[in-house]
Amino acid sequence: MGLTLAVDLGQRGVRCVLLERKEAPQFLPKMERCNARTMEIFRRMGIAAKVRAAGLRGDVPMDVYIVRALNQPPLLHHPYPSVDEARRQIDACNDASQPLEPYQLISQYTLEPLLKSVAESLPSVSVRYGCEFLSFEQDASGVTVRTKTSSLRAKYLVGCDGGGSVVRQQLGIALRGDGNLLRFRQALYRCDELFDRLPIGGGPGHGRHYHVADEHATFLIMQDSTRHWTLHATLEEDAAMAPQFEKAVGVPVKYDMLYVGEWKQNLLLADRFGEGRVFLAGDAVHLVIPTGGLGMNGGVGDAVDLGWKLAATLRGWGGPQLLASYGIERRQVGERNVAASRYASQGRRKWRSLWRNLDELVAVAEVEQRKSNEMIGAELGYRYEDSPIIAGEPGGPEHDFREYRPSTWPGARLPHAWLAGHVAIQDRIGPGFTLLNSGKADTRTLQEAFKGIPFGVLDIPDTARELYGYDLILLRPDLHVAWRGSRMHPEPRKLAALVTGH
Ligand SMILES: Cc1cc2nc3c(=O)[nH]c(=O)nc-3n(C[C@H](O)[C@H](O)[C@H](O)COP(=O)(O)OP(=O)(O)OC[C@H]3O[C@@H](n4cnc5c(N)ncnc54)[C@H](O)[C@@H]3O)c2cc1C
Repeated sequence: MGLTLAVDLGQRGVRCVLLERKEAPQFLPKMERCNARTMEIFRRMGIAAKVRAAGLRGDVPMDVYIVRALNQPPLLHHPYPSVDEARRQIDACNDASQPLEPYQLISQYTLEPLLKSVAESLPSVSVRYGCEFLSFEQDASGVTVRTKTSSLRAKYLVGCDGGGSVVRQQLGIALRGDGNLLRFRQALYRCDELFDRLPIGGGPGHGRHYHVADEHATFLIMQDSTRHWTLHATLEEDAAMAPQFEKAVGVPVKYDMLYVGEWKQNLLLADRFGEGRVFLAGDAVHLVIPTGGLGMNGGVGDAVDLGWKLAATLRGWGGPQLLASYGIERRQVGERNVAASRYASQGRRKWRSLWRNLDELVAVAEVEQRKSNEMIGAELGYRYEDSPIIAGEPGGPEHDFREYRPSTWPGARLPHAWLAGHVAIQDRIGPGFTLLNSGKADTRTLQEAFKGIPFGVLDIPDTARELYGYDLILLRPDLHVAWRGSRMHPEPRKLAALVTGH
């Protein structure tokens, strides 16, 4: 999360220092899928193409299988589109139901060095690996940070230091929920021939996840190179991970086991997302089970919610409510993501517990496994409620993990729309506040009210107006709706003050 935030701040010209304890990025497996919303965010940062070039090829499907072993007929096969297919669907659709970008499979060990190099290219960002944070003290004007070798003074500190966050512990903020639910061993293998020889379904049965119906909750995940694979299983010994891989693959292949480690399933949320001048983001404040892929992706959401608010406050146009809104907005998303992850993992457990009765397992998994892989509502549909910087409306659509129902309800992400010439509306929206105007309203009073604040007006065609349902939509720099109306707000100054945190 730290690197995403550093890129966001750096692109806004904010001076910042990233402290990382590790000497260098490590080749250790963790997340592997950026969801559609994260890819939209990366597109706005101008790095989506780089991420795709470094990640999995666009033509490989993201199918999910349940198997006894790869050399046996699959018990269940859920096809999911490759990036190329998903893009074709997006290109052909203009009802706001699709994201602008498809997901992208990219292993965390590929993404981290990529983000690091982007952050290092930004003149206002200083990236310091091999630099361990030890402690901080905050006062009315800033934060003093102590590292192993020196001390630093900054206006704000953001703890993006993972599940064991020292920053969170120093703030005395507890994580609540269910910790240590299940322990897994995870191993990383290099196997050059498996991708082309995947025996499943007559072969090669290309896909992303291969769940083995067994007593060890075994599952095999293809990594971005298609030459690396990870296997997870509830096994006690490191040494058991090599034979388990061979058993899952079912045909003899040449491979090297590069790493074995342990990880635990947690469903935890912090009571608060910071205090005073110190904020927390990512796994430091929410730990979910990777089922559903809301961990890293949720953290990217934290980073872009906080980035513009920090920049605005440092530039002097952000009021006191702006930074205060960070915890209010992101904690509720964290809470919903923990719930979505619980819902998905309970589904997974349900079918897994039936491994002795494969007919029943298949019937249950047909419904329950989808909960892990069909989370588009949680990914795109999150909406900030009761935020002090959003002109809210009473009521609002239900939050749905599984389905995405496009909405411009205040607090929601602006649904994607194509404009003339197949230009995405997101690409026309600048880095500040933007008023979408269907052309009928006189926007001068609002422009006047935003004087000194990054602000622009974008005229939208009737097709987009129809999708959005309102003549005027005020967007924040992170593309969330701050206000909407069918005529100009009666008190533009009040509106500008509200959405900038005054
Ligand atoms: C097996 C597995 C699969 C996953 N799959 C997915 C997926 O597909 N999609 C998804 O969205 N998420 C997934 N996740 C979750 C995802 O990996 C995490 O949510 C994500 O890494 C969190 O990022 P973070 O930056 O908040 O924390 P971390 O990745 O833990 O990074 C924290 C960083 O802070 C550094 N640090 C810690 N303490 C200090 C200190 N005192 N001083 C300096 N530096 C310090 C650490 O070295 C580390 O680099 C998966 C997780 C696991 C375990």
